[in-house]
Amino acid sequence: MLTLPPTKIISQAAQALLERAGDTREKNAINKAELALKSGMTIADCADGWLVASTRNEHVYRVSNVYGCPCKAGASGKACYHKQAIEILIEAGQYTMPALPRSRVVYEPDVSEWF
Ligand SMILES: [Zn+2]
Repeated sequence: MLTLPPTKIISQAAQALLERAGDTREKNAINKAELALKSGMTIADCADGWLVASTRNEHVYRVSNVYGCPCKAGASGKACYHKQAIEILIEAGQYTMPALPRSRVVYEPDVSEWF
């Protein structure tokens, strides 16, 4: 199971995707994905992508890097929230750099000021 990023990061990532979204359908899928992620949507990685549990029924969709999502919307080439949830997580990865432990941060004086 993937550990989801904090809700603040999910919000930031979803906002960035909304600003780049092409149409209303895509925006709706992003909104639904954001809500699903914040509500504890179940996602696990697999060999060719991710396993995404539907929030509506018992289905688990294999969202592939290559083939996209096999759900009804995804299979017909439309935006779906399963794929958008993955897009949000990928976008969120850009905002979640691991922090250095405090003891490893070393102050290095700028020696050019000394001369
Ligand atoms: Zn889907």
